[in-house]
Amino acid sequence: MATESDLSCTGLIRRFGNNAAVDHISLDVPAGTFFSILGPSGCGKTTLLRLLAGFDKPDEGDIHIRGQRMNDVPPNRRPVNMVFQHLALFPTMSVGDNIGYGLKRRKVAIVERRKRIAGVLEQVGLPGLEHRNPQELSGGQRQRVALARCLVLEPTLLLLDEPLGALDLKLREQMKIELKHLQKQFGTTFVYITHDQSEAMVMSDQVAVMKDGRFDQVAPPEELYREPATPFVAGFVGDNNRLAGEVVSVMDNLAEIRLDDGELVRGRVVSAGLQRGARAELYIRPESLVFTDEGLNRGFSSMQAKVRTTLFDGANSRVEADKSGQPVYARLPQDGSAPKLMANSAVRLAWDPMLARVFGADKP
Ligand code: ATP
Repeated sequence: MATESDLSCTGLIRRFGNNAAVDHISLDVPAGTFFSILGPSGCGKTTLLRLLAGFDKPDEGDIHIRGQRMNDVPPNRRPVNMVFQHLALFPTMSVGDNIGYGLKRRKVAIVERRKRIAGVLEQVGLPGLEHRNPQELSGGQRQRVALARCLVLEPTLLLLDEPLGALDLKLREQMKIELKHLQKQFGTTFVYITHDQSEAMVMSDQVAVMKDGRFDQVAPPEELYREPATPFVAGFVGDNNRLAGEVVSVMDNLAEIRLDDGELVRGRVVSAGLQRGARAELYIRPESLVFTDEGLNRGFSSMQAKVRTTLFDGANSRVEADKSGQPVYARLPQDGSAPKLMANSAVRLAWDPMLARVFGADKP
């Protein structure tokens, strides 16, 4: 049986003047999914979230929640709650009253309210804190109260607008993992917007990468990382070395590229219809590069570079090399087999061509 969709949008458009901030967005979010919308500032994330919440109306397209059309339903009648970056807990109310606020407005009786407040506090790991004031909580605890306040209302969808943005780095790291666990524990469908790729990658079941009002790719995090569909996704998700050149030949999805410094390299073609003579870019992840003295082995492709520096940060060693004036990054193995790399020494970097991606590029 197909999983029921909690949220489905078709052909959503929202224009401001001549600019479509949301431009033909269609999406389908199965029940219980942690769905992230990831993109740089100004790509239209907030506009899209506001359409889903009902604070704004699309110019075209439809929004359905659990099969019901929502376009003309006001925000307070949608089975949706929203967590904002600035939490806005009521400072003069206790934690319990903050959490119970929505229930009270829905006229839930006091005994039932107390029971549900205690239950949700237990679930977010803050049992017995009903009587505290928000000021007496840590940043992470306040965050969990803000979530509890929404989750106690049992929305079909919880919309989260960069809720970790205001936290310091350490707390953000911790809250990423907690949020993911809480989402699974409650089973509520989360639609989470962020410009931070590591947040989206760690927490999500599905990530939509958004650019200029459109989705470039919608996929689970591992797939986005392994099989980026566009140069934008390849550049935005994880680190990549980018090398420009011209296509010499294409065979069986592998392209041979003459880099701008004349060296011949190979990688797997992603862009459809890439032909001999076209400009192209080769994307290689730092961890796909190995240092080799022998050049090609097991069908690997390789290139010459010059070592600039080795950067050691405790868990990893990274090498920055120079490829005809362009920086190239590689990881050094951690098993003691790392070669001794002197600054300015020549190295050969090799890779499995199936792990390098070739995208068509515009003429320089
Ligand atoms: P950020 O991460 O910086 O919040 P975002 O991805 O959420 O960015 P939006 O706030 O949705 O992006 O904005 C998308 C585009 O729409 C931007 O070009 C913005 O200037 C424009 N825009 C958003 N709201 C309005 C508005 N009310 N009137 C005119 N233009 C708007």
